[in-house]
Amino acid sequence: MKPVNIAIDGPSGVGKSTIAKSLAARLGFTYIDTGAMFRTLAVYFLRKDVDSGDEAAVCALLPECDVDIRYEDGQQHMYLNGEDVTGLIRTEEVSKVASVTSQYGEVRRKLLYMQQDMARRQDVIMDGRDIGTVVLPDAQLKLFVTARPEVRARRRYLQLKEQGRLGDATLEDILKDMEERDYRDSHRENAPLMEAEDAVLLDNSDISEAEAEDRILELLRERKLI
Ligand code: C5P
Repeated sequence: MKPVNIAIDGPSGVGKSTIAKSLAARLGFTYIDTGAMFRTLAVYFLRKDVDSGDEAAVCALLPECDVDIRYEDGQQHMYLNGEDVTGLIRTEEVSKVASVTSQYGEVRRKLLYMQQDMARRQDVIMDGRDIGTVVLPDAQLKLFVTARPEVRARRRYLQLKEQGRLGDATLEDILKDMEERDYRDSHRENAPLMEAEDAVLLDNSDISEAEAEDRILELLRERKLI
């Protein structure tokens, strides 16, 4: 039987990964966070001290990068040339470099095949920016998750604070950074952030995690996917 593929797209900080992770655990699907793959490459670019705005220099490094995803105790771990870099990919520095370098066609192509291959082999919930439009155009369910920018920035702010990684950033700084990244994601030439024509729109601003999950489960039942 063809595996079930669920695609979840939307801007940063919208709560995609929280929804996707929890649903995947509940349904026994594999959760694939594609942003983590772009972040893993960004770690390498940072280590090589390449100018992230220099497309040719960035792409010249790609053959040296071996990106691998492994699941350990149900958690997605990112490996870069055999090293587990999972703990290094969530910094603001990595976010910035991932956001800039994910614009490049060659960077995207390198990860595209891996993403598609994983979805061919198993039931997946994959989240990102171009999953419903480019990576899994035949996904049986596509969701486009949105939330008001202030709600997203606030979530991110509280998350950073909780993790002790806020530094001296204010809520305004976080909102500005987020809007900058979203602008880049939505306006790039290669696989921009866009709602697929057949996606279901889910506004996650004022609903609880449980409500969001219930709505998705209902959609899956309606489509006889579970
Ligand atoms: O989702 P996350 O914020 O971890 O992704 C990091 C960066 O990777 C994003 O800012 C976005 O530019 C890029 N990305 C992408 N396509 C995806 C997933 C992430 O371009 N499918």
